[in-house]
Amino acid sequence: QIEKQHIVTWLNLCADTFARNQDFLTDLDRDIGDADHGLNMNRGFSKVRENLPKVQEQNISAILKNTGMTLLSSIGGASGPLYGTLFIRTAASVGAREVLSFAEFIDDLKSGVDGVVSRGKAEQGDKTMCDVWLPVLQHVKTALEKGTDGEYLLDEMVESAEKCAISTIEMRAKKGRASYLGERSIGHQDPGATSSMLMIKALKQAMT
Ligand code: ADP
Ligand code: MG
Ligand code: MG
Repeated sequence: QIEKQHIVTWLNLCADTFARNQDFLTDLDRDIGDADHGLNMNRGFSKVRENLPKVQEQNISAILKNTGMTLLSSIGGASGPLYGTLFIRTAASVGAREVLSFAEFIDDLKSGVDGVVSRGKAEQGDKTMCDVWLPVLQHVKTALEKGTDGEYLLDEMVESAEKCAISTIEMRAKKGRASYLGERSIGHQDPGATSSMLMIKALKQAMT
């Protein structure tokens, strides 16, 4: 069961993890980008945290939508509109529901990720945040179908996210700034895939 409090906790934990990992993400972005991804994520989620008291009384969808709008206007770069879309489209999928099963929330997140794909046009293997979200959500859906539950499911979700983030090392970037490097993008972990993995770790923490 996912209730509003889990979502609020998740967003706060995202703000914590991006404050802690700002330098790590920025270093990854220094290798294949413009060395701002950690800064961008920390700025975005600090703002989300700052706005939470103002929206906490509203429903899950409104909180997620507000998060998306905040990220859209404060992250900038390529990842701002994409993470903004992720939350805004997830919010639209949640609708008026106040309580979600884990399976339902995974479907809502999938709608959000579909929004990211239609906006950013990245396919799996293009070395982007989509290389974490698409396979992780697919993995969780398969695990749910097999009847895996509770703690194991969350463990598997995090394990899959970590593997997926690592799997971007050997990919050649086909989207975003890193794609300008061509072959030279190979051998470096994608910053956006890594920030997505951190969000998924925070989600597990919020649920347990
Ligand atoms: P910028 O590249 O504008 O400085 P960031 O550094 O904040 O923006 O974000 C870079 C990340 O955005 C990349 O590591 C990648 O994961 C993600 N990204 C870039 N372009 C796309 C795209 N078209 N689709 C999905 N993700 C993308
Ligand atoms: Mg950058
Ligand atoms: Mg930039």
